[in-house]
Order: sequence, then C-alpha cells, then structure tokens
Amino acid sequence: MEEHYIGVDLGGTKILAGIFGADYHCLATEKNKTKPEEGYDAVCGRIVKTVRAAAESAGIDPAKASGVGIGAPGSISSDESHVLFAPNLDWREVALKADLEAQLGCPVWLGNDCNVAATGIHRLELEAKPNDMVSIFLGTGIGAGIITNGVFLTGATRAAGEVGHMVLDPNGPVCGCGTSGCFEALASRTAIFNRVKSAVNDGGELTQLMKADDPSVTRIRSGKLRRAVEAGDKLATAVLDETCFYTGLAIANLCNLLNPEVVSLGGGLIEQLHTVMLPKIRDAALGRIMPGAQQVRIMATTLGDAAGITGAAILAHDHT
Ligand SMILES: [Zn+2]
Repeated sequence: MEEHYIGVDLGGTKILAGIFGADYHCLATEKNKTKPEEGYDAVCGRIVKTVRAAAESAGIDPAKASGVGIGAPGSISSDESHVLFAPNLDWREVALKADLEAQLGCPVWLGNDCNVAATGIHRLELEAKPNDMVSIFLGTGIGAGIITNGVFLTGATRAAGEVGHMVLDPNGPVCGCGTSGCFEALASRTAIFNRVKSAVNDGGELTQLMKADDPSVTRIRSGKLRRAVEAGDKLATAVLDETCFYTGLAIANLCNLLNPEVVSLGGGLIEQLHTVMLPKIRDAALGRIMPGAQQVRIMATTLGDAAGITGAAILAHDHT
C-alpha cells in the first residue's frame, strides 16, 4: 500500500492542507480560514477539519497516513512538540503535536512555517543541492529560513532567522516590533500599502487601478499592485522600486554574513511580481556583495503556496 504524508501550512489567516504520495506528488489540497480570534481549541478543530477534507478528496483515511507535518507561524520547541510563541495566533506554549495526534490518530510533527517552506523549496525545487541557502518570504510580513552547512540556523534560544527585523534604515517607518526601519517595515506588503496610502493622502497621482478615493487602498492585493505597475502607474512603480531596493540591501547583508549559494524569494508579492522585481533586486544586491560571495544565485521559487505544504509533508516523511 502506498504511503501518504500530510502537509499543513498554518498561517494567521488561512490553513492549507495537502495529501502527498511517497514521491511528494500532491493528491489533493483543502483550504480553510484560521480565525485565530476564536481561540486555540477552535483553530485545532479547523486544522483537523481541513486535513480530513483533504484526505477525503484524496480517498485516504487520515488515521492511516504515515504522518502529518505542520508549519506554524512561530517558534517551535526543540522536540518539535510545542509552539512556544506565535504572535499572529496569540499562542504561548501550546501542545499542538499532542492535541492534534489525539484528534487525527496519526503522528504529527511541528516546524516553523518559514523553515518548513524553505525545506519544500530546498528539497523539491533545488533537489537538496545547496548546502547554504537563504529563503526569504515577502508577504504581509517578512520571514526567512536559513540553511548553513546543511542545517537550519536556529540560534541559542531558537530565535534566529528574524530577517524581517534587520534594521535597514534607522530613520525609517516604525515596525510592528517597536523598532524603526526594519526590513519588514520597509518592504512587506503592509509597508507598500502604507506608503501608497500616505502618498495618496499627500495628493500623489494614481491610475484607475488605485484611485485616491478608494477606501480599500490599504488592502490592495499583490495582483492589483501588479496590474497597476503593468499599466504604468508611476506611484505603484516607485513604491515597488523602493521595495526592491531594500530587499536587495537585505540580501547583500545576508550574503556578506552567510555566503549562501542560493537566495530564494517567495511569498505573494514575488509570486505576482517576480519578473519586474528580480532584476531590480539583483541590481541593488550585487554591487553590495563582497567579491568572495558574489557567485550567489538570487531566484524566485516556482512552488508558490505549495512550498509550505510540501515542506510540511517532507518534515513528516523525515520523521517516519
Ligand atoms: Zn521589526
């Protein structure tokens, strides 16, 4: 009988589950809202519901799966059993592994969401070749998974890899963490739309796609930004250029520090805009990388949303 692995990408807004065969071929996926405001037990219930629905689509019994891997947005205990701290979910020290195992009836393994998505990119897309790799995810926030010498960088207290909170401009906008000018406060989707909004308030001109009187201007999705840039919207283009500049700076710092073989970029912004963004990011980065580290390959992942669930299935596979 074929072995099955289940991968779950648990985010602050949505839960994505995928059922995989032994070769990481995806058989079915299912998506639900996370609704963290309803509390830990309700979110656990929705994870179970999402996994069961995906398993049903794939025609398998989840209790007979070889294992479930979960990428969660926070720090994970070294034994991969507890989520220690997940600010987006308002969780502290929750026994997610035991609670899900009790409901699903099969082994569950936890990982940090960025590390898990980086695992998906590393193992599936890059065939486990790079020994040194940085994966950066640009979305509502900015996260990263860092592999040095073949292993994930965790740090002394499992808090390493907070690439989004590297300070790139001490006089820059205030970040969610309280500091000013973090990479995340300059180049996340939230930062982009804050800049668009303040430019609109200052009387900046916009095309049809971003009307000044549109109350939803702070909620523009990456796809809408892409259409604005393609239509030649000057403000959208300027804001995106700044985003690419800061992303390039961050990459240069990381390359000088870690000397990776590959820097992979992912997340909603990159998925929509990589053809415009990658050349600009490379331009900003390469001139700032020391000669010894300039061989780095800066690429956009093609896995998209599948990186997280695939990496989570790999996490489960590696433990069984
Ligand atoms: Zn910060």
